[in-house]
Amino acid sequence: MSGKRVAVYPGVFDPVTLGHLDIIRRGARLFDRLIVAVASKSEKEPLFSAAERLDLLRAAAAGIEGVAVDSYEGLTVEFVGRHGASVILRGLRQRADFEYEQQLALTNRTISGIETVFVMADEKVAYISSRLVREVARLGGDVSKLVPPNVLAALKRRLDGRPNAECGMRNAE
Ligand code: ADP
Repeated sequence: MSGKRVAVYPGVFDPVTLGHLDIIRRGARLFDRLIVAVASKSEKEPLFSAAERLDLLRAAAAGIEGVAVDSYEGLTVEFVGRHGASVILRGLRQRADFEYEQQLALTNRTISGIETVFVMADEKVAYISSRLVREVARLGGDVSKLVPPNVLAALKRRLDGRPNAECGMRNAE
């Protein structure tokens, strides 16, 4: 049991994109078990609540073997420790990602000893970012080549002014 290699892929996933899914597929091949962990708190106001981001990820990653999806609050390294994982998985896009990812990986290693493994997405989806997906979708652009179909539908619902039943109005209170 303890010989199994478990990795955690943490992120905000607001929303999950084809880039994230490519990293998840690669991670699932590299490790015995991959836990995709949705960070429920984000510094920015998210478009989708943590519960919605979790649901969208669960549905999008449902067919990928060896993958579980969960959410967490607080320190990523604590989540990793609690789940018996030994590795953090992160994706790398362009050079711009490197500085932040290096700081994060070194900080996490210093405070917990946990290593971070980086994977590059397929070049066809490596440029995709959740931030640009949100921006393009908000302005009415077609993001069907950037996100899985369930996210496309959720974006349409959200941006048509019809919030998902789950949480939409809770944030407004
Ligand atoms: P965070 O806000 O924690 O960076 P994200 O949800 O934006 O969360 O991303 C989670 C991880 O996935 C990060 O390591 C990010 O670099 C990586 N990632 C996001 N999109 C892509 C992509 N298109 N290709 C490769 N890695 C990606």
